[in-house]
Amino acid sequence: MFRIGLTGGIASGKTTVCQFFSELGIDIFDADDIARELVNVGTPCYQQILGHFGTDFLLADRTLNRQQLRTHIFSNVQAKATLENILHPAIHTVLISRSAESLSPYCILAIPLLVESQQSYQLNRIILVDTPETLQQQRLCKRDSLSLEMAHTILSQQSSRVDRLAIADDVIRNDTELAHLKEQVFHLHQRYLQLAKQD
Ligand code: ATP
Repeated sequence: MFRIGLTGGIASGKTTVCQFFSELGIDIFDADDIARELVNVGTPCYQQILGHFGTDFLLADRTLNRQQLRTHIFSNVQAKATLENILHPAIHTVLISRSAESLSPYCILAIPLLVESQQSYQLNRIILVDTPETLQQQRLCKRDSLSLEMAHTILSQQSSRVDRLAIADDVIRNDTELAHLKEQVFHLHQRYLQLAKQD
């Protein structure tokens, strides 16, 4: 299977880009979606998280209070590492096994923390969705109704643009209208069809 990793900062446009690839018939495997599945009530990851963080992070229906956990790890480096140690290997396993079953000409693994995660995803190429920070901030504030200050704090905790560019084979600039984004996706798609055929 020809696997393409897709990464980018928060609100850079990863989901939007994936949607365009999906419309072209390409299978998308999204680490965030998988992370949500993995913490469903009663799953091994759910049990491990409960073991480490306790019942304080549960809602009344015993589902994980993801929002509370996110806020907690935001200001606690050790807790962040603990949560990542539980989730990242599991996400990795699911991404690799599901993508192995893919029947599309190539597939995309959307992994926001690709720079940070040291695991091998056996990727043939890596796409970076590259968006100027000011635009990321604006889109994040608008989409999630956040203050500019909060958006700035979130962005400051992410890996740098330089680090992302260092791992990228292909860069999609998302700094203008959606039509231009779609056009870039279409061009890359043509190229990937060729590359996947030769693989
Ligand atoms: P996250 O990191 O939170 O998962 P993301 O990288 O998947 O975010 P999107 O959700 O695709 O980012 O985009 C963030 C917001 O910006 C969305 O509301 C989306 O509709 C909007 N957006 C993305 N690209 C553009 C664009 N070129 N023009 C206008 N709005 C855009």
